[in-house]
Amino acid sequence: MENGKEFLHNYIKKHGLKKSAQRDKILDIFLSVGGHLSVDNLTEIVKEKHPEIGYSTIYRSLYLMQKAGIAERVELGDGITRYENMLGNKRHYHFVCQQCGKLIEFYDPLIESKIKISAAEADFSIERYRLDAFGVCSECRKKNNHSPKTKNSEG
Ligand SMILES: [Zn+2]
Ligand SMILES: [Zn+2]
Repeated sequence: MENGKEFLHNYIKKHGLKKSAQRDKILDIFLSVGGHLSVDNLTEIVKEKHPEIGYSTIYRSLYLMQKAGIAERVELGDGITRYENMLGNKRHYHFVCQQCGKLIEFYDPLIESKIKISAAEADFSIERYRLDAFGVCSECRKKNNHSPKTKNSEG
């Protein structure tokens, strides 16, 4: 985890920015919590420990962490921007449940090699890519089947 701080400090130095103790605290929490955090999620967690840190500081820190390659934006089409930790995080893709918002991570090396082949064919140099598939998770499908609505259906 100390790699994360080093990573950010190198980025800050390279870009002539100032170090910030608050930003370091935010980074620590972001890296230790993991998962896919919205700014609101992270704000809640940070404020429990450090009530003096404000939303805009957290927002700006996340933006900087994204620029530094520590965090990556995850857009799931629900208008909420989430961030996930990219350090030590293996490449993965997402199945996104559109009913409950659950994220299931998956990885298949075949997908990766196919994308590389397609990029080579298009003479395209990929810097990064993401793959999110949207649908309904098994729990939500079960719930849907047991919903009272089905009682009224005739036929
Ligand atoms: Zn679901
Ligand atoms: Zn993920």
